[in-house]
Amino acid sequence: MELENAANACALSEFWFGKHPEGISNLIVVTVSEGIGVGMILNGQLLRGTSGLAGEFGHVTINESGPQCGCGNHGCWEVYASNSAAVRYYSEAKAAGRNGKSSPQKPTAAKTFENILQLAERGDPEAAEALARMAHYLGKGITMLIAGLAPDVIVVVGDVARVWDKVGPVVMEVIQQRCSTHANTKIMASGLVPQPRLRGIVALVLQRHFGAPTTA
Ligand SMILES: [Zn+2]
Repeated sequence: MELENAANACALSEFWFGKHPEGISNLIVVTVSEGIGVGMILNGQLLRGTSGLAGEFGHVTINESGPQCGCGNHGCWEVYASNSAAVRYYSEAKAAGRNGKSSPQKPTAAKTFENILQLAERGDPEAAEALARMAHYLGKGITMLIAGLAPDVIVVVGDVARVWDKVGPVVMEVIQQRCSTHANTKIMASGLVPQPRLRGIVALVLQRHFGAPTTA
């Protein structure tokens, strides 16, 4: 039985079943949830690395004096660009808003990412600000992936895909500002795949037997 971590399963699933252009052999999936995972298919092969631990870009430090991450380090990428980060940004935006007003409101209860998505869809300014900050850091990390690996496609997978009309333009702006290489990477967003591990396992079997889907 083949088991892959969720990001690798998503990468295989997207590579075989996704809506990317035909003929590609370099695809990276960035899974965005409470944390960030990265699954990489390079030259048509899933990159596992030693002990299957490749792809932990979510725990690359981008600010060593930043907030503590679940891994024990400080300022990892996922501390700035995950769903949890957006929830934190929302609380901070609310607190900043209250400081500007005199009305003594009770502190806003911690919101879930789902709440923030719903608020943003209704035009809530703090929710929009929280998503924009998350998007900024998603863009920074994705810029690192483009600069380092020059993939054909990067697929962002997660609930954030639902608001990609708001998040995507910020991500693209950061990439255009910061990415000094001229890799022609296409950025896409995809909702959460039902049972990504199952689809990933199917994809893995296909991969083993038939090689890259577009060159078979
Ligand atoms: Zn970490």
